[in-house]
Amino acid sequence: MTTTAKPLFSRVVVKLSGEALMGPDPFGLNAPTVGRMASDLKAAADLGVQVAVVVGGGNFFRGLQGADKGIERARADSIGMLATVMNALAMEGALEQIGQAARVLSAVAMPSLCQPYSRQAALAHLVKRRVIILAAGTGNPFFTTDTGAALRACELSCDAVMKATQVDGIYSADPKKDFSATRYERLTHDEAIARNLQIMDTAAFALCRDNAIPIVVFSVNEPGAIPKALLGKGRATYVMP
Ligand code: UDP
Repeated sequence: MTTTAKPLFSRVVVKLSGEALMGPDPFGLNAPTVGRMASDLKAAADLGVQVAVVVGGGNFFRGLQGADKGIERARADSIGMLATVMNALAMEGALEQIGQAARVLSAVAMPSLCQPYSRQAALAHLVKRRVIILAAGTGNPFFTTDTGAALRACELSCDAVMKATQVDGIYSADPKKDFSATRYERLTHDEAIARNLQIMDTAAFALCRDNAIPIVVFSVNEPGAIPKALLGKGRATYVMP
């Protein structure tokens, strides 16, 4: 994207769910979709924005599903965290293939695969313009990668959490089920709570609200959505303090 416009934010966490990397497939990783997301992240970095990506793992495994099948919840969540590492490694490869320096940092140390997460290491990579991919969520069971995204945004002094979803912003109801649902352009955190809008899980949303971190919700299905949202163009909902 060639533009002289200035991005709204200088350092962001982009939250990509496992589903966002699955594309049209019923399970796992869809290589063209991962490649498209990587191009979007590179375009964001090319705007001069420092980019940290938090990847989910739901395309492989979610702890709650495992617990439903009889796996102890904490163990099931460990499996879920491992799923996020697989996605992170795939994204690192896709970014490197298109010439974007990238590093995976995992909240659960697995040094033969990637670097262990530390705030210092993350910040050092960001200032060197590497895209960092933060794997294993918070590193603790009973949390989600949404909460991991909000937590890392707070500790890395990010200006916003950019959350990719299946629709182009926040609606008054699920637009896939309710055709009368209206889309919001802008909201405050308090308005989102008052209207009971399910943007992220409660812990994640509370962290963003309490630390005055904007949340930008955009569609994962629209190519170029990340750089457009960073420039305040395209379709996205901005939750601003
Ligand atoms: N998980 C966890 N702790 C974390 C983040 C994730 O235990 O801090 C586990 C949890 O089992 C979760 C799975 O990893 O279901 C995958 O993450 P998530 O469900 O957030 O992925 P997404 O829905 O974004 O694909």
